[in-house]
Order: sequence, then structure tokens, then C-alpha cells
Amino acid sequence: MHEDDHKQEQEADDEREGRALARSLPAKPAHQASLQGEGSWANLLNWLEVSPDALVLVDAAGRIARVNSQTEALFGYTRSELEGEALDALLPERFRAAHVLHREQYATSPRTRPMGAGLALYGRRKDGTEFPVDISLSPLLFDGALHVLGAIRDIAVRRQLEEHERAAREAAEARLALLQLVLDELPTCVYFVTGSEARLVLANRAAVTLWGSDWPAGQPMLDFLGAHHIRLFDTNGQALPPAAFATLRALHEGQTVFQHQEIIRHADGTSLPVLVNAVALAPRLLAGLEAGGGNRQISSAEPAALVVLQDVTSLKEAEQLKDQFIWLVAHELRNPLAALKGFATMLLRHSRGDKGTALASWQQEALADIDLAANRLNRLTEDLLDVVRLQAGRLVLHRESIDLVHTIQRVIAQMGQSSDRHQLTFSSTLSHLQAQMDRGRIEQVLVNLLTNAIKYSPDGGEIEVTLQVVSEREAALISIRDQGIGIPQAEQAQLFGRFVRASNSQAQGIGGTGLGLYLCRELVSQHGGDIWFESTEGAGSTFFLRLPLLQSTSARSVSPRALSSEGDQSTS
Ligand code: ADP
Repeated sequence: MHEDDHKQEQEADDEREGRALARSLPAKPAHQASLQGEGSWANLLNWLEVSPDALVLVDAAGRIARVNSQTEALFGYTRSELEGEALDALLPERFRAAHVLHREQYATSPRTRPMGAGLALYGRRKDGTEFPVDISLSPLLFDGALHVLGAIRDIAVRRQLEEHERAAREAAEARLALLQLVLDELPTCVYFVTGSEARLVLANRAAVTLWGSDWPAGQPMLDFLGAHHIRLFDTNGQALPPAAFATLRALHEGQTVFQHQEIIRHADGTSLPVLVNAVALAPRLLAGLEAGGGNRQISSAEPAALVVLQDVTSLKEAEQLKDQFIWLVAHELRNPLAALKGFATMLLRHSRGDKGTALASWQQEALADIDLAANRLNRLTEDLLDVVRLQAGRLVLHRESIDLVHTIQRVIAQMGQSSDRHQLTFSSTLSHLQAQMDRGRIEQVLVNLLTNAIKYSPDGGEIEVTLQVVSEREAALISIRDQGIGIPQAEQAQLFGRFVRASNSQAQGIGGTGLGLYLCRELVSQHGGDIWFESTEGAGSTFFLRLPLLQSTSARSVSPRALSSEGDQSTS
């Protein structure tokens, strides 16, 4: 028979069978699917082939009525080997007994549902090998009898993926647990936040102690602070706006904030000074972790930060104790120093006049040395007292109207007498320049800079001071240039820190404390100005002062500095 003829005949048979089936169908309950209309039998066979799953039509006795070609491919049987056989053939032996029971139960309440819900089901190939399957069952009326259509899907690949995913999740959870364990043992407060609202990802035990409350994972920082009435202040006691919080800055600006001083004030009024390091993290580092709050996963687009808060209460207390000690010693030195200086001056004056016995020249030289040493000690004690005043925020400026040209000239004249080997010059197109400044403090800065220019030019040479007005006559710019030993490039950034000295000055045996430039910077900054320098080692240095002529509103208020600022950069 021609192949097409055979096909047509087959279809006609199928159609007849389908019609017979449709005719034979009784009125059915709604939960039973059935084949309806002309050609439905042929459609059924077509549908079986279209499905990507292995489909098996089983009769009420558990015998296979029809299978599609996917079933043949999946189980390795031919259609003829399966049709008419018990379904058990497709199941591993250990499932067979249970299967009979389930089939009987299913027959009492047939409906579409997955088979063996909650069980790991397996199929069995003709060669005896097993593979994991998903089976969903649908009741079907066929030839007036209830049949079950089983859709079988090979889920080996899916299982494998699920297994990998589970293993990866377990590994990540284990790493997180280890991280939590390590963090909990640290004495400093450490936490991770993500998103622009700084939602907590993870915090250690010390964080609870420091904040005084438990910050739940997923909660935004401001919500947490608000809920517990915790406020943040700067070292001047000013409430910090959220945008200035180190944590939020790291997230918003994507930059690491180092050594930010903040004061945490709890609801009960207790305060805690802290040093904050907020390190902006590459977002992918936290991606995939849960951000709390309904197991929300952190996306790789969200900013993230690691924040470390160090309670510096004891450091501050030690600092205060040290300042008190310095203050006490410097204060106690003042009286004997004044006596030394006073008597040395009196003796020198008397011996020079006709009033007393003339002193031998070596005696006069000794007295002059005592006078000089007393002056040096005096300056040192005053510097120390100023440092303590600055730390405590007790250094107050007494501004008055001064003529800057005259002030500079006076200091130059006074300093010029201290050395024969240096020529101090002053150049300016101005004859007067009125400014609102603290005369004593400005003189102190100039004396410091000129003393350095002289001291660090051991071979002598010219020291030029210039003055001009800049910034549309709103500020004075003073420069002091020497031809001395200069400052090594690598050490320049640190030079305004407390007790910082350049290595070349120490190598040359030039004495000093490293306090002068620190005080200059603080005093200039309190006048609202800047100080900076340019220097080449071996060729000399030029220090610049920019001072606003009128009292600037941007001038920094007197601030207690909670901690030492060694290593601070210049204010330029
Ligand atoms: P001191 O002079 O008491 O050491 P300062 O704070 O005034 O302290 O200066 C800090 C350091 O800066 C000095 O020790 C010195 O190394 C360097 N320095 C300051 N001024 C000059 C200068 N004009 N030339 C070279 N080095 C300088």
C-alpha cells in the first residue's frame, strides 16, 4: 500500500475511534478532562507527540494504553514494548508496591496534580539505569473509562543545578558564619551597610555595646538612630547632619572616610567619642548576601561600605591627663623662669651702668647666655601652654585693628638683631594695611616663621619678606623666603603635625620641638587664613600666609581638638 494511503486510512481509523470515544462519553464531573468534538482521538495522538515531556496514558488497571515517542527516547523501550504493559515497567522496583497503592487512591479522587509530592521520584530505563523525574497526573475519560495521563520529565540536569546552588548557598552561609564569628571577637565595632539608606547587612557584638541597642539587619541607619533616639555630634558639640555621617558619606560619595571623629549621644544622655573609618566597598563584594527584611538579596548595583568605629574614650582621657600634666609643668616653670630672666637682665643692666661692680667680660657673656636660655625656655613653655589651650578649645583670639605693614616691620627689626649672618629684608608696595587681627598671635606666627628661616639657614644668607593684597583686596599674602637647608619632599605633607620635624634638620643637629608650625597653622586657621610652603631640599624654603583682612565669617570657631593631629596635612 502507498504510504499516503496508509496514512489516510490510519487517520480515518483514528477519527472513527475518536468519534466513538466522544459518543461514548457520559456527562462528566467538571474535574474530569475529556476529549470532545470531531477528530479528537487524532488530536490526542498529535498532542502526545507535541509535548516535550514523555507522556504515558494508563488505564484503570495500571496498564499502559498509549505512549509518545519522547517516552521511547527517555526509557529506551519501543512503543510496542510498552503499550499493554504494566506501568511498573517504568519504575524502579522499590517504588512498585507503593505505586499500586497510590494508583488505587488516585482512582478514588482523580484530579490534576503532581505525583509523589514531596518524594524524590525516579524513572527506570530499559537498561535498568535510574534517573530523577517529575511526574504530573491528569485524569482522562477514554473509551468511557477513567484513564490517567502521566507527564514525565527528566529532571537530572535540574537536580544537578539545584544541588550546585544548594552547595554554593551552604558554602556562602558557612563563610558568613565564620566572618560573624571573627567579627564578634573583635573589640571594635564593625558593621557592613548597603544602599543609599545604609541598610545594615551585618554587625558584630561590639556594635550592640557601642550603639547601646541592637540594629536589626535590613534597617536603614537613620531609622535605627531615630528609633533609639541616638544622635551624632562633631567634636565641637554641633549636631551632625546625616550627610556628614562618615557611614553615609562613604556610601554616597563612594570614597573611604578615614579617622572621622564623631560623638555618639545615647537617649540617656551618655556620650561616646568615636573614631570612624568608613571604607567604600566594591558593590559586588556584598552582592548576593541577604540584607535582612524579608530575605532581600543585595544587588550588585547597590553601594556598600564597611564601617569600623573605635571607642576612644580612654584615649581621650589619657590625652586630657597628658594635657593637664603639660599645663601644670609649663605653668610651674613660668615663675622660676621669670625670676631667672628678671635677675639676669637686672645684673646685666647694673654691671653696664655705674651703679654696681663691673663684671668681667666672661661673667657678662655668661649672663647674656642665661638671658638667651631663659628666652628660649619661655617660648617653649608658652608654646606648650598654647598647645594645651588649643586642645581644650580655650585659645581665644583678641582681634583689634592693626597695621600689618607696621607689625611685619617691627618683627623683622626685632628678629634682625638676633643674627649677624642673615640679612632680613621687607618689600611691599603698601605703606599701611589695616586688618582685624589678634596682634600678639600674628606676631607669634611671624616670629616663629622668621626664627625657622634663620635657624634652618645655618650658613646665613638673605631672608626676604614680602606683603601684598590679593583676592580683590580682601586678603593679605605674606611670604617668607630663605636660602637654607630646605625640607625633603617626602616629609613635606606631614610638617604641620604636632612634634613633627624634618630629618635633615635633626641630622644637622638643629634643635627644636616640632610645635611651631603646628601652632602657626592653628593660629592662622583661627584667623580664617591658610598657611603653606614650597621647598627644595638644599635650596631653601618659602612659607606663605594668606590672611583675610576683615574678620571672616568663615573663620573657624575655637574648637576643642579631641585627639592629636599628628600627620595632618597642611591647610593649604
Ligand atoms: P621646630 O623648629 O621647633 O622643630 P617647627 O614646628 O617650627 O618646629 O618646624 C617643624 C620642622 O619643620 C622643623 O623641625 C624643620 O625640620 C622644618 N622646618 C620648618 N621651617 C623650616 C625652614 N624654614 N627650612 C627648613 N626646614 C624647616
